[in-house]
Amino acid sequence: MKLYANIIIDISHEKLDKTFQYEVPEHLRDSLRIGMSVVVPFGNGGRRIKGYVIELTEEPEFDPARIKEIIKIDADGTRIESQLIVLAAWMRRTYGATMNQCLKTVIPIKHKTAVKERKILHLQLEESVAREQLLEYKRKRYTARERLLAALIENPALEYEVVTGKLNVSSSVIRTLEEQCVLTVERVRTYRNPVQGLTRKEPKITLNPMQQQAVEAIRQNAKMPEPKTCLIHGVTGSGKTEVYMELIADAIREGKQSIVLIPEIALTYQTVMRFYHRFGERVSILNSKMSAGERYDQFERAKNGELDVMIGPRSALFTPFPRLGYIIIDEEHESSYKSETMPRYHARETAIERAKLSGGIVVLGSATPAVESYYRAESGEYLLVELSQRVREKLLPTCYIEDLRKELAAHNYSILSRRLQGLMEERLLRGEQTMLFLNRRGMSGFVSCRSCGYVVKCPHCDVSLSAHNNGMLKCHYCGYEQPMVKTCPSCGSPYIGGFKAGTQKIELMVQKRFPNARILRMDMDTTRNKEGYEKILSAFANQEADILIGTQMIVKGHDFPNVTLVGVLAADLSLYTGDYRAAERTFQLVTQAAGRAGRGEKPGEAVIQTYQPEHYSVVAAAAQDYIAFYEQEMMYRKMLRYPPVWNMMVALAASSSEECAKAAAEAIVGLTEKDADEKLLLIGPTEPAVAKVSDIYRQVVYFKYDGYEYLTELRSRIEAFMENSPVFRDVMIQFDFNPMNGF
Ligand code: ADP
Ligand code: ZN
Ligand code: ZN
Repeated sequence: MKLYANIIIDISHEKLDKTFQYEVPEHLRDSLRIGMSVVVPFGNGGRRIKGYVIELTEEPEFDPARIKEIIKIDADGTRIESQLIVLAAWMRRTYGATMNQCLKTVIPIKHKTAVKERKILHLQLEESVAREQLLEYKRKRYTARERLLAALIENPALEYEVVTGKLNVSSSVIRTLEEQCVLTVERVRTYRNPVQGLTRKEPKITLNPMQQQAVEAIRQNAKMPEPKTCLIHGVTGSGKTEVYMELIADAIREGKQSIVLIPEIALTYQTVMRFYHRFGERVSILNSKMSAGERYDQFERAKNGELDVMIGPRSALFTPFPRLGYIIIDEEHESSYKSETMPRYHARETAIERAKLSGGIVVLGSATPAVESYYRAESGEYLLVELSQRVREKLLPTCYIEDLRKELAAHNYSILSRRLQGLMEERLLRGEQTMLFLNRRGMSGFVSCRSCGYVVKCPHCDVSLSAHNNGMLKCHYCGYEQPMVKTCPSCGSPYIGGFKAGTQKIELMVQKRFPNARILRMDMDTTRNKEGYEKILSAFANQEADILIGTQMIVKGHDFPNVTLVGVLAADLSLYTGDYRAAERTFQLVTQAAGRAGRGEKPGEAVIQTYQPEHYSVVAAAAQDYIAFYEQEMMYRKMLRYPPVWNMMVALAASSSEECAKAAAEAIVGLTEKDADEKLLLIGPTEPAVAKVSDIYRQVVYFKYDGYEYLTELRSRIEAFMENSPVFRDVMIQFDFNPMNGF
């Protein structure tokens, strides 16, 4: 059987689909691997060029007699591109997506405007010759040429932009004159640098003994032949960021570069400045607000050795650093580290794989580690590093759990419990600040009838419509819009409305209760743009307000030393999201919210309001006791065989025909029948949380198994089956492993 290699010649984002097939000669069969750079004959002349192997297959794409052979493996084929291609191949195997989707995820976008070029026009003619030419243009009424040449005679070097702009000369005219050797165009590459002119300050901080110990442990581990992934479990304010920076400094001394992943929402000016002050201009950032060109520039700078540190959200993981030191993942439990589009990769797992390929070390950090990370640390797979105290022995806040049912029974109809009101009053008198945190997970401004419970849904998607400020109801899945209803379509009752116990409504209620308080609100409406977000945070930091009300967004980022009270308005809302991570998410949110109190000199208090005061996630969060939560949660995960104890794969079948989707899901289940393995647990086929999107019906099957390999093997089997079943041609299949947010 012959072996063929699919090869990409031009490794840029747009050309990734364009592969060429070559035969693998006998003597390279054993050594050739995906990702390797090879030399191949190209075109009719058989010119020798380099390419990258992205796939190996036994199936020829065209007449085997006409397929040319690979000449040889490129000797310096250990470049960063090779590593990223290998990583893409791993992502394809692990998460199930096409090689192309995976390559597009790991290879930076080379955009037309990617590299900012300054173009300068230079006059190439002697002045006398130029003046003759000018007369010639005038005679022939080439007015644009005349304008340009006249300007060049006056000023022999002109900016391209000035010529096309102010002089209003088109680029084709410039090209003509270039071809006629009247002028030349000089191209000067300039890279956009998002941070400029920053001065570096030497760090004044000396690590405390606990931080020093953490750094030492990670350094020791780094010297091992097979260093482990490290997990720093440290409460907020225990000085994790200082530890990260110390490690990065180590790497720099060894000539290595590091990547710091931070959830986008926590990527605030304050955080980023700490890195700039320490490492100066050799730090860069990525964020989702950058254009493709700006992102590409930053990747180029990284590749060219201009940077030591890249900070950014999930996608920064693919920064093409030539010598990888550390990959640090801060707030590693955050769900934003999991991609919601194909390939549905998790940045943590992918970082570990990248480090394995390129010789880096992954350091995870969190006050509330993901259950699966702590599980791996406990089992010895990761190195566990504890930072158990806040820097400068600041105490954790005192927490109170308030039962909202008791408030109602006591005729308190306010959204603020009596205790919270009392404590807020104290703060106002003392000139201290309060943060009110609204847990909005699993509830997004839906409209329901208070008489009969009817919820207004999208006619195309199985989701509730969300009320918007402009009086419209909108579907977030397909964009469908309709005016707000005045009476219940089901029972006619007028008591129907936005169940938007949203931040806006809360602001009104709080203002009514505390008429003299200065209140700031932070939610999607007030933070449409990045500046809005930063503006509100800094206004609050400057104590321009007494109370800040917000959603998840206020949990991250800034330190507010004058905040001594945090109120969590409905801690248990995130318990109703209906997936196995609900308790974990609740614990994380409440712990992080409460942890915002008392980060300055004054001690803090937190009030956690809930309808489920006994729930272990709430109790453990109030006690700021991660281990207590972890143990309870693991008991439940073990019992129900959820990750990290077992692995879970979700297969989603989607089709415009409900019957087809169902039949496909049934057939998928049928594929496992022969396995007769008691270790395989099946749920479904069933409807996912959202059963219909844009008139496409969805069915899911959940597979639980104690190992990962069986599930990936099953996935390949399902893929092959679907490909070979003409009846299911219109059914689309997607997979997700150990899901975070589900389909
Ligand atoms: P974390 O990342 O765990 O939340 P940080 O690294 O942000 O913690 O530290 C919290 C605060 O304590 C920051 O303002 C930081 O500058 C300060 N800090 C950290 N380590 C020290 C230290 N060893 N000495 C003095 N201040 C420190
Ligand atoms: Zn009704
Ligand atoms: Zn819809």
